[in-house]
Amino acid sequence: MNGARRHTRHGRVSGRPRLARRRIALAAGLVLLVLLGAFVRAAPHAQDDGPAFDRAASTVAARPAGRASPDAASAVSWCGNDESSADRQPNVELSSTNQIRVVYAVPSDRPDRFMALASAIATDVEEIATWWQREDSARMPRFDLFAFPGCTSRFGMLDIRAVRLPGTSADYGGDNGPRALFRDVATGVPSSTKSLTFYDGPALADRCGVTAGNTGRDSGGAVAVIYLDVPAAGCGPDDLGAGGDRASTAAHELAHTFGAAPREAPHLCPDSAGHVCDHPGDILRPRHIPGAPLRAVVLDAGRDDYYAHSGSWWDIQDTSWLIHLPQRPLVVRIASRGGSGSVSIRPGNLTCPDSCEATLDDGTTASLNPNPDASSRFAGWEGGCSGVDICDLTMNQPTTITAIFARARRTLTVGVLGKGVVTSVPAGIRCGRACKATFDAGATIRLRAAAAAGHRFSGWSGSCTGVGRCSVRLTTNRQIRATFRPK
Ligand SMILES: [Zn+2]
Repeated sequence: MNGARRHTRHGRVSGRPRLARRRIALAAGLVLLVLLGAFVRAAPHAQDDGPAFDRAASTVAARPAGRASPDAASAVSWCGNDESSADRQPNVELSSTNQIRVVYAVPSDRPDRFMALASAIATDVEEIATWWQREDSARMPRFDLFAFPGCTSRFGMLDIRAVRLPGTSADYGGDNGPRALFRDVATGVPSSTKSLTFYDGPALADRCGVTAGNTGRDSGGAVAVIYLDVPAAGCGPDDLGAGGDRASTAAHELAHTFGAAPREAPHLCPDSAGHVCDHPGDILRPRHIPGAPLRAVVLDAGRDDYYAHSGSWWDIQDTSWLIHLPQRPLVVRIASRGGSGSVSIRPGNLTCPDSCEATLDDGTTASLNPNPDASSRFAGWEGGCSGVDICDLTMNQPTTITAIFARARRTLTVGVLGKGVVTSVPAGIRCGRACKATFDAGATIRLRAAAAAGHRFSGWSGSCTGVGRCSVRLTTNRQIRATFRPK
């Protein structure tokens, strides 16, 4: 908390009368943080609309020197090597399509620093996930991940969307700036998307971040903005990737996108919608405190306003945008006994044409659907499934399942008219009247006709004709008749 203490030496430009008192409260409050961090209560359910527009930020001019915390986030190395504004597929997270899209957005008059900043963004996002688990060991935000080849770290796989905005930094400044920014970030993405946007342009005079959209309850559609260029505002140092002020701002805006704090929260600030005023170390305090790293703040101090509270109003702990931990690995293997096919997994709509791996939230029911190729059939499961149909698995442990595909079967139906016997090579058909047998699809079956004493074979009809040898390839079901007549 060196940053906070150093901060008291700086003057203030906006003359907030409560500032000195708030600093003292902060110092006292931070002593309680360790205790509060472990304080998790069961969450009942309720609904409410969250704030539509976050006007929080500090107007305090102060820039503590150095990084937010010497032992802040260990750096993540982002595994991608290209910029894409599209959603990279397939997704790693399958349990829900409610996945937070992390966005890098740069106005048209600024240099694109995506490749230079991607690892720092991934590092702060990892710090948010780590912090959230410290606050609630059973949950963390579900970020959109993509399995870049060879990537071994979870947040190295962060699917970061890069957006070159149509407007200039002037277009996104001023009173109407946020509205234009929300609109342009949301262009071309599904309306349900939550976009955690690192905006590589200048902050507004009184804001470190801003959130808009349909943020209440469990809905999507929110755009959260973290300003990266914060030279003069009281937003702390330019510390992207340090688990510091930018990470703290991002976690604050993210909580807004989940619908915090609901208007029924008992400690809502009287003059700042969507924020709580019962503790200066709360992530949803109304104004950013420069120099306080993410790990110095808590998620709903006292657990009485918006997270894991005992009230009947909306609790963001219940949002479907949080992963339920621990996640469970699912390995699907494809085995061939003469056939081929794929397995599709729901939720997530992942198709495994070969072996594949997925990660699912604890308790998720995964539905595995075998899809045999033409000329193949599904012969059954090995592992945690049985039968020859869709398998529903409840993921409460690591699971490996093998799907076996075999050659499809086709039916050969033989009818006999008169007195004689028809047999097949390979064996299967031996009939004096009518019979049928199944063989592998594509197999070639030869039929022999043997007339009874006093009779003669007079010919084939159907898939064979004439009186000679009958050889038929079972690319499809076939019917053949043999006719015998008295001599
Ligand atoms: Zn806010």
